[in-house]
Formats: sequence, structure tokens, C-alpha cells
Amino acid sequence: MDLLLHICCGPCSLFVIDDLRKAYPSCRLEGLFVNPNIHPREEFLRRQESTRQACSYKKLPLDLLPDYDQECWETFSGETAARCRMCYAKRLEKTARYAAEKGFTHFTTSLLVSPYQDQEALRQWGEAAASRYGVSFLYRDFRPGFRSGQQQARDLGLYRQKYCGCIKSLEERTVERKQERIRPKPGSNDPAEAAGGRDENDV
Ligand code: SF4
Repeated sequence: MDLLLHICCGPCSLFVIDDLRKAYPSCRLEGLFVNPNIHPREEFLRRQESTRQACSYKKLPLDLLPDYDQECWETFSGETAARCRMCYAKRLEKTARYAAEKGFTHFTTSLLVSPYQDQEALRQWGEAAASRYGVSFLYRDFRPGFRSGQQQARDLGLYRQKYCGCIKSLEERTVERKQERIRPKPGSNDPAEAAGGRDENDV
């Protein structure tokens, strides 16, 4: 198997790379950073750099695509779930096309490690994109390794983002944080606890 891993950010890639190497020890594995959703450009560059550092640490070959295309996220007026499906579709489509062009037989995504992403939608859009380009989508539930991957990122000092990525998610997170400051959980001085147990860096 020749497997291409779509990487959304460095922290999410760490456990996924280890897990894939363990599950498929003889496969050719390479990474691809293609995330035109990330706003603003400074944040895009930070996540690209954290991905480069993570792959360097794991000795994983990596390609970085400079796609940065904000208009469809800025102007999207539908509900959040529909926006995220569009976001998955765009990133997985680009990954599937790259996989076919570079001779990979399969691709998957580090988005599948996050408990905050929609696994079923990722699987559907991954399989749809794969069928258009004559490759296969490898679905694997990496979520059991989410916390250990984030801990590895902390230990390595990697940049860990505070919101999912697009301009709308930045706006939503800004509103949430304002509300958390106004209404802290009674009896708690811990910001993570006050946020309902969600670490401010969780994505
Ligand atoms: S919230 Fe995250 S997955 Fe959804 S559209 Fe924004 S960046 Fe994409």
C-alpha cells in the first residue's frame, strides 16, 4: 500500500503517524499539508510550520501546498455542519487528486483523530473523492489517541491552535471565550473546567 496522509496540523499528526506505522509497517507513508480553510494567513503559516516540525520529528516525508483560498468560508451563510462538510470536501478532494497524481493507492486524514470532527461525514467525503480519482480512502478511527497525541505536542513544544481553523470558527470561539469569562463555572478557577472540560487548544 502507498498511503498519503492529509495533515491538518502538527499536533493531530503525531499519534496518527505512529498508529499508521504500527498498523501498516511495510507501507510507503507520506504527508500532505493542504488546508486552504485556515484564517488568517499568520495562523495558516503557524500550522504549516507545526506540521513541518512534527514530520521532521517523525521523519515523515512531507509536501506543503500553499493553497490559501478564503472567500468561500468568509461568505458561507449556511449552518455549521454544512460549512464543515464543504470544508472536508475541499480538503479531501485536493488530497485525492494529489494522491492519484503521485502514485499513491490510498489516502487518509489526521482530521479523524479529533473528537470534535464529524467522523461519518469525513468517511463519506473521503470515499467520494477517492472514487473520483481512482484511489481508496482509508477510514480509521484515530480518536482513542487524541489525548496522547496532544500530550506529545505539548512535550515537543509544538504550536497548538485555539480554534478549528476557518474565519467562522474563529468568530465562534471568540464569542465562546467572552461568554466563559462572563459566566465561569461556580467554584472553579480553572479555565478548562469553566469551559466545560474542553481544553482551550482542543480542535
Ligand atoms: S469549523 Fe473547522 S471543519 Fe468546520 S468549516 Fe471551519 S475549519 Fe472547516
